[in-house]
Amino acid sequence: MGDKLGVKEYRLALRENKLQGLKCKACGFVTAPPRLACRHCGATDSEIVQLSGKGKIATFTSIFIPPESHRGQTPYLVVVVELAEGPWIMGNIQGADPNKATLDLIGKSVHMDNNLIPDDKKPPEDISPMFVLDS
Ligand SMILES: [Zn+2]
Repeated sequence: MGDKLGVKEYRLALRENKLQGLKCKACGFVTAPPRLACRHCGATDSEIVQLSGKGKIATFTSIFIPPESHRGQTPYLVVVVELAEGPWIMGNIQGADPNKATLDLIGKSVHMDNNLIPDDKKPPEDISPMFVLDS
């Protein structure tokens, strides 16, 4: 068995602006957020790797009706980013206007930023990466 990276540890690392994943020792596939088994080959022997937080927007959606934890923050964008290391992860984005978001956003380069929402009252289990458009 390899390193253990639980969802809790993953989120605690995110709070410190670290994006971690699991690299499969069998096939090299990187999984993030962490899962018990490799998403590619199902092996469970993996090691924790530090991810760059860089990638491209694969898809996005505008949220107008928020969950309880985001009340008062609408509209906002939720993006799915294809990381340079391969995994697709969901997160929020700054620097893109949710009211003007178009399909032009898809394929845009982004990087993870430590700029968590000010006065962030989200519980630790609800944290997600914050991305910023590359300029
Ligand atoms: Zn694998």
